[in-house]
Amino acid sequence: MASEDEFNLLAIVVDVNPIWWGQQAQREPEQFTLSKCLDAVMVMGNSHMAMTRTNKLAIIASHCQDSHFLYPCKTWKGGEGSGDDASSSGDGKYELLSVANNLIAEEIRNVMSKSEYKGHSTDTLLAGSLAKALCCILSLKSGQEMKSRILVIKAADDCALQYMNFMNVIFAAQKQNILIDACVLDSDSGLLQQACDITGGLYLKIPQKVALAQYLLWVFLPDSDQRSQLVLPPPAHVDYRAACFCHRNLIEIGYVCSVCLSIFCNFSPICTTCETAFKIQLPQMVKSKKKKLKPST
Ligand SMILES: [Zn+2]
Ligand SMILES: [Zn+2]
Repeated sequence: MASEDEFNLLAIVVDVNPIWWGQQAQREPEQFTLSKCLDAVMVMGNSHMAMTRTNKLAIIASHCQDSHFLYPCKTWKGGEGSGDDASSSGDGKYELLSVANNLIAEEIRNVMSKSEYKGHSTDTLLAGSLAKALCCILSLKSGQEMKSRILVIKAADDCALQYMNFMNVIFAAQKQNILIDACVLDSDSGLLQQACDITGGLYLKIPQKVALAQYLLWVFLPDSDQRSQLVLPPPAHVDYRAACFCHRNLIEIGYVCSVCLSIFCNFSPICTTCETAFKIQLPQMVKSKKKKLKPST
């Protein structure tokens, strides 16, 4: 079968928003921390790579300043570099996996320590990280048969400002037959619900954060073919309401800019996103004002 030689790339996007993880550490100290989350991600990544020889892995940390490849990273030299670090794994673990885990741990330390705050943005750059994952998949895909999916581990709240970029990434993924799965740690994400529904992935808000590794292995490790044979949690209700760009409220009926498709809950003569000036209805309003004014003057 051709599927034996088919590459299977799993790109994991981990939300490492320092503000959310800082608050989490205060809420439940020693219960569930970023390092525990990354341990679970490594378990997932190792399992994926150990399943089949042709399985590939990428891990991207999504920060509020940038998105960063944790694996494969610049210091990774494929199989060559394993000689030096192999001595550190005397526990009988497969050497390549322990080298990968050490690199991931080192990279996340770099990411979390270097972040000096220039902007005021506290939102996770999730849309950017998804775009990066998509680019990574497409660059590896060139010429080869490949089945790929993206798993998002989401912590902080959605950012309505990223709505446009986010939807663009989702539709690009849909076009390339790339599944987007979402494992949500905290409050529900309307954006990810839509992403999973559109691309045919799974959306799950996990009831217990400490059990993250179990949920990852049970629900998200099997690929789309295997999933049909499993008893998985029922599909989540998808909230298809869009957030208005002015107040970030979820609305069912609103005004849409005909140029950039921004959504507003109130009519405004100028689109605040693309600064298009709308001409509709304005003449009528002027006329009616004049009519009212004339008798009085
Ligand atoms: Zn609004
Ligand atoms: Zn506009």
